Amino acid sequence: MDIRLVNLTKIFADKTSEVRAVDNLDIVIPSGKLIGLLGPSGCGKSTTLYMIAGLLEPTSGQIFFGEEDVTSLSAEKRGIGLVFQNYALYPHMTVKQNIMFPLQNMHLPKAEILERTQKYAKLVGIEDLLDRKPKQLSGGQQQRVAIARALVKEPKVLLLDEPLSNLDARLRLQTREEIKRIQRRTGITTIFVTHDQEEAMSISDEIVVMKTGVEQQRGKPQDVYENPVNQFVAKFLGTPPINIFTGKIENGGLYIGEEKIGESSLDDQEVTIGVRPEGFIVSDEGPLKVVIKHVEHIGRDISVVATHPNSEKETFRFIVESEIKLEEESEAHLAIKPAKCYVFDKITEERVQ
Ligand code: ADP
Ligand code: MG
Repeated sequence: MDIRLVNLTKIFADKTSEVRAVDNLDIVIPSGKLIGLLGPSGCGKSTTLYMIAGLLEPTSGQIFFGEEDVTSLSAEKRGIGLVFQNYALYPHMTVKQNIMFPLQNMHLPKAEILERTQKYAKLVGIEDLLDRKPKQLSGGQQQRVAIARALVKEPKVLLLDEPLSNLDARLRLQTREEIKRIQRRTGITTIFVTHDQEEAMSISDEIVVMKTGVEQQRGKPQDVYENPVNQFVAKFLGTPPINIFTGKIENGGLYIGEEKIGESSLDDQEVTIGVRPEGFIVSDEGPLKVVIKHVEHIGRDISVVATHPNSEKETFRFIVESEIKLEEESEAHLAIKPAKCYVFDKITEERVQ
């Protein structure tokens, strides 16, 4: 079942102020896919999720599950599984009781309750922990219990609000792979909210990037990374982040400072130029002269920080293969791969090239 948000808007207002938490969101979440809702803290991700869940009433707009308009349907009737950042397990209940709990109001036969509990405990890999209490589990295990509890009702939609944020780095990686696997297996339409671009990129079939309640861009993670529509999206995706320079277009040339780094068919103007860290080539013919400041080996590649010889302010952060020898405090020349170089309007920050 797909989910459609139509002009979905939420305004939080009191006597003194008004926050447009979600602003005219128009999104289709295709059936059976995992969509990552991504953006900085406060951009309206949770608000969007809670409106879909039926926990918050939209100010305007509609929510469809398949053909059905569920905008005014109560949360219980929507068939949603919800998982929060803090596992929210019942501390006095065992794992088994926690997972079974949502089924007990559904008046299912006892045998089916037990069967489903077993099935979902197994699916999330906690079938050996059923008799423990939550405090006897690691954070990752608790979050799996929370996921099993969300799935046991066999909801049509799974909503995950920063489910990995409380886990340490290694568990976060492991659990996100688990979530992907579970989602694939069950084929449940899933929305995964996170502020972590790497997490969203790795887990999602598609990402939706939001800023101040407004959708910026939607697409396959790699497509959005390679074709950002504006400076915000370009900066939000990628580690290390994209390099941003002040530049200009003059007589068909694209310039960083006084150095011509490429071509442009646009009119002469001042622009902002973004270059991905993997977009630099170390080459004696390269137009950009830099001073290498710091070289760090990161496995197969090296990560380099360099500055402009005349201006310490222009900093270049780039990644090249480790065979390339770069000495700290030495000079090097850089060229730029056109496919990794984006040009933004200086004022609107929209991408123009
Ligand atoms: P995110 O989940 O992306 O961090 P939220 O959806 O929680 O963002 O919040 C979006 C915006 O709405 C923020 O500016 C937040 O302060 C505001 N907001 C959220 N909930 C409320 C509320 N109950 N009352 C007033 N403002 C709220
Ligand atoms: Mg949130």
